[in-house]
Amino acid sequence: MDIKKFLNEHGITPTSLREEIINILSNIEKPISCDELVEQTSANKTTIYRNLTLFEEKNILISSETNRKHFYELAKEAKAYFVCDKCHKMEEITMPNLDKKHVKSVVIKGICDECYK
Ligand SMILES: [Zn+2]
Repeated sequence: MDIKKFLNEHGITPTSLREEIINILSNIEKPISCDELVEQTSANKTTIYRNLTLFEEKNILISSETNRKHFYELAKEAKAYFVCDKCHKMEEITMPNLDKKHVKSVVIKGICDECYK
C-alpha cells in the first residue's frame, strides 16, 4: 500500500508518524490499543491519540470498545470479534451477514469456552 497516497486521498497530510501508524495498522491481525501503538512508535500517547481521532474522523479508522479500552483497526479491514469478559481474549469470528451496509465493527461479548468450564 502506498501510505502517502492513501493519506492524501483521504485529505490527511502525510507525516512520518502518520505513515508509521498506518503502516503498523496495516500489518496487525487484531485491533490494537493506543498503548500498544505508543510502545511501537516514538510518539507520546497524546500525539498518537490525536492522530487516531483524526483518522477516525476521516473514516479510515474504526474503533471498538471493550472493557473500557479502545482498539483500532483500518476501516477497510473491519472484522467481527468475540471478546471474553473474563480473560479479555479477542477472537476473530465470521462477520454476520447483516442486511445493512456500512458496518463498522462487530463486537460480541460473552465468556469463552475455557473460562466457562
Ligand atoms: Zn475467557
